[in-house]
Amino acid sequence: MKAIYISPGGATEEVEIIYELGGGDALIAWHGPQVKADADRLVRTDTYADFDREVARTASCGFKQARDALDEISRFGSADVPLDELEALIDAAEASVAGLGIAGEAGEVADLLKKHLGHGHELDREKLKKELGDVLWYVARIAQHFGMGLEDVARANVAKLRQRYPSGFSTEASKRRADIKA
Ligand SMILES: [Mg+2]
Repeated sequence: MKAIYISPGGATEEVEIIYELGGGDALIAWHGPQVKADADRLVRTDTYADFDREVARTASCGFKQARDALDEISRFGSADVPLDELEALIDAAEASVAGLGIAGEAGEVADLLKKHLGHGHELDREKLKKELGDVLWYVARIAQHFGMGLEDVARANVAKLRQRYPSGFSTEASKRRADIKA
């Protein structure tokens, strides 16, 4: 049986369980480094739900709250969840969709460039314009979600690039990245 071991430092390692001893506080031994660990640091991967419950859901605290509320509603018919928490969760879901959207549209831009530059297709400028517009829409949506104006975003970008390339672009300056290391 395969399992994922999570070290106290958070590193993960896939291991093969050889045998189990005892119950809830069992020690489990596996191949690889011949070590033993407390059972609560092992996540069995024979069912993904175990892994999801043990790791993923605890990592996204807002969605864990939502899932707990849904569990409560399914068990008791209602849940005692403050309205502002629900609104924050809906906001987070909307921002998540915008995050997926910007990645998807950037992919469409990348595909157009790949076909033009890599496959020799004629560039469809109108299509590129539309896809760049889709990217821009999601940029605006995400900026709006976090209370930023597009002008602020653009000005901050210009300031960052001026700091990074005070004398214009150079490979050396791009390695130095003065705006990050300042
Ligand atoms: Mg598009």
